[in-house]
Amino acid sequence: MSALSLTELPARVKIVEMGPRDGLQNEAAVVKTADKVRFIDLLSASGLAAIEATSFVRPSAIPQLDDAEAVMAAIERRPGVTYLALTPNMRGLDRARSAGVRAVAVFTAASESFTKRNINMTIAESLATFATVVRDARRDGMWVRAYVSTAFGCPYEGAVEVDAVVRVASALAEFGVDEISIGDTIGVATPRGVVEVAGALQAHMPVERLAMHFHDTRGTALANVVAALQMQISIFDSSAGGLGGCPYAPGATGNLATEDLLYMLDGMGIETGVSLEGIRAASRYLSGAIGREPVSRAYRALEAAAARA
Ligand code: MG
Repeated sequence: MSALSLTELPARVKIVEMGPRDGLQNEAAVVKTADKVRFIDLLSASGLAAIEATSFVRPSAIPQLDDAEAVMAAIERRPGVTYLALTPNMRGLDRARSAGVRAVAVFTAASESFTKRNINMTIAESLATFATVVRDARRDGMWVRAYVSTAFGCPYEGAVEVDAVVRVASALAEFGVDEISIGDTIGVATPRGVVEVAGALQAHMPVERLAMHFHDTRGTALANVVAALQMQISIFDSSAGGLGGCPYAPGATGNLATEDLLYMLDGMGIETGVSLEGIRAASRYLSGAIGREPVSRAYRALEAAAARA
């Protein structure tokens, strides 16, 4: 009997693909609408159950995502796939509704300075805004996700208290959101912090509603995924190719790459329903469109092996 037993881990994981929104939002290159649509269609074909496709933010605020309506109109919406769009306010929700979006997401943080600089609201103001957005979205039968970023550290304040994460996440849970994604926005988390935060949150909400959004800025993302799995978390955010970078450490790695996550989960015998080859094809396409190789380690290893064969 081995000392390390992995038998208590979830048998199945849901991956929420962040590339088209969180990824492209943080890339310098502005991608043509047709390339985004092709990228999303390739991701859909890989077996992903959830893809964050775009953001209905004011177009001048994030030029990379100023074509939300056009993207939503052109993608092939496969049955069984949830196509999420970020809706920062009621105007965004109205636009999303008109575009036929059935799943929306709201975005706040666990630290005041980040929330102020990122969305120009206090945490309390952001929660007041989202209470209305979530209420109306739910009334329309939409599926709703909420993000709590800077849960493990803030670029302006440093360490973030676990209690601060619990307060914000609990408020969002009370609004009745379907899923809450806890984000390591600057990639500083280590497994110990993941266990602490996941443990504290589980006293306030069902673990089935909790997702983790790790960044690999300091190389700890996959270790954090294993720690979260041990806490029975079974929903993880990742970005095809590792698209996105880290806005707070230019040149550094940001979002955990979907290929790296999949390679590990496949090897651990944890089901995802997602084809690594399919994600690789989507990353290869997008990398051609932005003129940059994906930072995903698994992607690079697979490409290098294929080139030698
Ligand atoms: Mg991210």
